[in-house]
Amino acid sequence: MTDIIQLLPDHVANQIAAGEVVQRPASVVKELLENAIDAGADSIQLVVKDAGKTLIQVTDNGVGMSETDARLCFERHATSKIKNADDLFNLHTKGFRGEALASIAAIAHVTLKTKRENDEVGTSLTIEGSEVTAQEPAVVAKGTTVSVKNLFYNIPARRNFLKSNPVETRHIIDEFHRVALAHPQVAFSMTHNGSDVFQLQASNIRQRIVGIFGTKTNEKLVPVEEETDIVQVDGFVLKPEYAKKSRGEQFFFVNDRFIKSAYLNHAVQSAFEGLLKDGAHAGYFLFLKVPPKSIDINIHPTKTEIKFDDEHSIYAMLKATVKHSLGQFSVAPVLDFNKDTGFDTPYEYSKKQPKIPNVEVDRSFNPFRNEPSGRRTPSFSRPKQSSWESLCVETKDSGHFSTGIAQLEVESEEVTGTLFNETEKEPSRGTFQLQQKYIVSPIKSGLMVIHQHRAHQRILYEELLRNITVQEAVSQQLLFPLQLSFSTPDREILASITEQLEHTGFVFSEMEQEQVEISGIPVSISESKVEDILKQVIADIKEEVPDAGFSQNDLLAKSLAKSMAIKTGTVLQQAAQEHIIDQLFACKEPNVCPANRPVLLTMDSSDFDKKF
Ligand code: ADP
Ligand code: MG
Repeated sequence: MTDIIQLLPDHVANQIAAGEVVQRPASVVKELLENAIDAGADSIQLVVKDAGKTLIQVTDNGVGMSETDARLCFERHATSKIKNADDLFNLHTKGFRGEALASIAAIAHVTLKTKRENDEVGTSLTIEGSEVTAQEPAVVAKGTTVSVKNLFYNIPARRNFLKSNPVETRHIIDEFHRVALAHPQVAFSMTHNGSDVFQLQASNIRQRIVGIFGTKTNEKLVPVEEETDIVQVDGFVLKPEYAKKSRGEQFFFVNDRFIKSAYLNHAVQSAFEGLLKDGAHAGYFLFLKVPPKSIDINIHPTKTEIKFDDEHSIYAMLKATVKHSLGQFSVAPVLDFNKDTGFDTPYEYSKKQPKIPNVEVDRSFNPFRNEPSGRRTPSFSRPKQSSWESLCVETKDSGHFSTGIAQLEVESEEVTGTLFNETEKEPSRGTFQLQQKYIVSPIKSGLMVIHQHRAHQRILYEELLRNITVQEAVSQQLLFPLQLSFSTPDREILASITEQLEHTGFVFSEMEQEQVEISGIPVSISESKVEDILKQVIADIKEEVPDAGFSQNDLLAKSLAKSMAIKTGTVLQQAAQEHIIDQLFACKEPNVCPANRPVLLTMDSSDFDKKF
């Protein structure tokens, strides 16, 4: 029998290797940024088009390459960073495998332009599917530019597998964050489709965090610092009250390399014990320095996991250090000389009883009557509110029923609904509310119990989806536009859904840097809730389950409906209860909420008969 084993041709081997190194555009971004750092650059520019599917380009002012190296760097296992196996245990660079450029060149159109400081001319090289198609001298500045075009052009299956542009862009931004945070002394910029996403000057860690996550982050940071024989820790944790439900800002860096470690995350999380609400995740930016010999970064192909020699000691030390910092922080407010005293109650007022404001009400006003009501008190008439909202009162005290006019004295902002006069309504259908959670309605065959929050979600969801996809909703113009600030990645997400949001009634008048100005909002939400609602939408999009098969419009409508729907604990006047029932049964699918949970159940009177 003849021998059957052959060596694979290089370009095939490279394509196979590429599967491991390059999963998506963000992987290319990571490799190119890390190469630029390893080349000693102090200024790095990232240019991306179409979420990296069309172009990813990184320009650095690092050491550059000779003509020969420019060609060699695309060979597999070609690296200048290690020479023998021992070097693996004393790594000071990000790369060492010599695989990245070879892999990228196997699955994209790549051009490289590079020049060393003392060379007169540089080199320009074009490579497609591992084949060098052109090489010539080029007049370029010191440093290197690598352009990667048409990623996966020769592997359609991989290209089709890529997610939507917002999702891929998010991955790119994540990688950009990791490298930029690890190297605050390096200036970075990023542009996407021609517009600036980040412009980060060389700075310190605090400024870098603020540069990325927005100026508001500054006041949330609690410094962490400790040095022992085995590890040096510095960085910041976020004050407990800023912990999020989603694992947003969690960054560990070991020797300036971003890593993931469930074990160390646990250490930090447990240092926050007792300070976090249920289900909240601590936020942190922690930089660990350990002797390179004491770690093995080799255990994971994409290198975000590492192995420490002395993991237990690092755990204990990290937990103690973070706890200590939080302890110091909790005494800090007492010594806080920067506190804004403007909100303190002046001495002479501090013992006075609050005066109950006098409110004039038109008791005969009925929002369901079309005829104009002459004596409407202007401050309580918000004609642009949707009818359901104008009928309900939110109360935090669940045992407390809103009885109408009497409530006006307490919550002047939320009381529009109580203007509704019980004696003037249409003949009742006999609905009532149970535990401020269910609407119970007699029906021919017995009883129907409706989950008010889910029912309202269903109503809003169908309405929003209609608005987003087919017709635009009306919007209420704000007299004073709202100024909201978002971190850059959040703003990117917001930018990707502005059009849909505008269909629901939002009007974005400006989107600059961190500031977003909103001059119109959907009629069915109140101004005070806008920020929470948008943040929730962004968080939901971030957590979007890939491959769930739902469109972004659907996700958006669900998310908005969830945060806009009346909650359990909201008192509904009779007319509001009936209105919800009517709207619910005008829906296409009244039986389930957008998350597919039951909205209502019915009980036959024969069921009662059995019980008696
Ligand atoms: P690795 O980074 O693991 O060594 P790469 O495939 O990423 O492997 O790069 C191969 C080699 O090409 C590097 O070792 C380095 O010598 C050279 N190189 C890559 N990018 C740059 C750059 N931006 N500036 C200078 N040299 C570079
Ligand atoms: Mg590399």
